[in-house]
Amino acid sequence: MTREAVASERDEAIQRLRDVGLRVTGPRLEILQILAGGEHLDVESLTAAARERLGTLTSQAVYEMLRHFLDTGLVTKFDRPGWPAVFEIADAPHNHALCISCGRVENVESTTPRKPTTGLPGWHVDGSEVVFKGQCPDCRASIEG
Ligand SMILES: [Zn+2]
Ligand SMILES: [Zn+2]
Repeated sequence: MTREAVASERDEAIQRLRDVGLRVTGPRLEILQILAGGEHLDVESLTAAARERLGTLTSQAVYEMLRHFLDTGLVTKFDRPGWPAVFEIADAPHNHALCISCGRVENVESTTPRKPTTGLPGWHVDGSEVVFKGQCPDCRASIEG
């Protein structure tokens, strides 16, 4: 990556933090820039990636940052049954595919079921999501040898 590209990614992360009224700190910038890469990452992978640049950083600190990012709508969280939740930069709404063998998550463009008009009396429905479960190409290749 060129020096200019890195600088503009940093500016973008600074702007994102300012837009939601969060104080700009080195660790926050680092986490946002890692997520800007477009991956779905859990707390441990985020901590490991950020540590390479920042030196000391606890997963507890990353967890706290993510909580602020979630509260301000900067990131979204995807719960993976059987694996730690993953986080990504909040972008256009989308659904996910989950590999049940390795936990890999990928974005899927597909229609989400609409809010039911009957059948949930008294409920307040916040949203819905579709999760396509199966095996990713890598896991399929290793199973089939
Ligand atoms: Zn897999
Ligand atoms: Zn996603």
